[in-house]
Amino acid sequence: MSKFDAVVIGSGPAGLNAALYLVRAGLKTAILEKNTAGGQVLSTAEVENYLGFPKGAKGWELADLFSNHVNEYQVERIRADVTKLETIDENGVMHIIHLENGETLKTRAVIIATGAANRPLGIAEEEEYKGKGVSYCALCDGNFYRGLDVAIVGGGDSALEEALYLSRIVNKVYIIHRREGFRGTQIYLDKIRSMPEKIELVTSCVVDSLAGSPALQKVIVRHVETGEKRELAVEGLFVYIGHIPNTSFVPENLERNEQGFIKTDQEMLTNIPGIFAAGDIRAKMCRQVCTAVGDGATAASSAIRYLEHLNA
Ligand code: NAP
Repeated sequence: MSKFDAVVIGSGPAGLNAALYLVRAGLKTAILEKNTAGGQVLSTAEVENYLGFPKGAKGWELADLFSNHVNEYQVERIRADVTKLETIDENGVMHIIHLENGETLKTRAVIIATGAANRPLGIAEEEEYKGKGVSYCALCDGNFYRGLDVAIVGGGDSALEEALYLSRIVNKVYIIHRREGFRGTQIYLDKIRSMPEKIELVTSCVVDSLAGSPALQKVIVRHVETGEKRELAVEGLFVYIGHIPNTSFVPENLERNEQGFIKTDQEMLTNIPGIFAAGDIRAKMCRQVCTAVGDGATAASSAIRYLEHLNA
């Protein structure tokens, strides 16, 4: 069993920044990374609202910059899937982190920064068409639909941003949204509304069913009030309807909200001593790269203070 002063679970912007602060404070730190570092930034085509990048930055470039910055320091980066986080009493609160490969890590301070996964549509044919038209990543799969017509579901920043990205590759994008108002940022909406020949808004509609053989050829939408159905002849359907927090490994008694996001105070403390949470995994209003980075710094500062207090 390896022992660390602090362990960060997750290597998105929140986790990487937390690790940076921990290691710069002289703590023996490990980052547990399930996937390539960067989190959801990696599957974002263009980040336009990160301060200091007025011309925008490619998501993967930003992820690389974050990751390389952390590599300037002595931090242990472990490629691993965490299966369980448990808390025991060993001269005070001690956390044991179980990995899928059977190894365990021991630490007094854990920062959970595992972010969230794409929420599926939840309709019958979704599974059947995964990889055959249904996608959750425009950046990864958009190129397959070059010159074709596609649809996006959702009305948040992700849906709007990725619709703009896809509009540069495909022939036409339909945005299917369940109501008339959009929660995504106005600047994206203005851009979209200025190009009606490229992007069509299909509002107050939900996806009813999918059809086509052997791959997707039609998305059938249903008006939420009238029940009227309409067929959209598209070969790709990109789903951007929010996220589900990645918390499968956390202890039962770690407090979460109704959607499963971890509750913290403003210093990123959870209800369990020595467990902190940062980034999209947290119950909060604003989920941005900059807020994730800020959460990471705050969580690390709280962890540093917590460890100092234990050692005093
Ligand atoms: P989101 O803001 O939660 O939006 C999800 C969208 O999907 C909403 O429009 C919602 O409709 C719709 N929706 C939810 N469940 C649905 C269902 N079952 N069927 C149909 N539609 C459904 O998610 P997001 O766009 O992924 O963004 C997540 C967070 O990341 C946000 O805080 C966002 O601001 C942030 N983000 C920021 C940027 C950026 O600033 N560059 C980029 C991407 C994401 P309703 O509106 O009716 O609820």
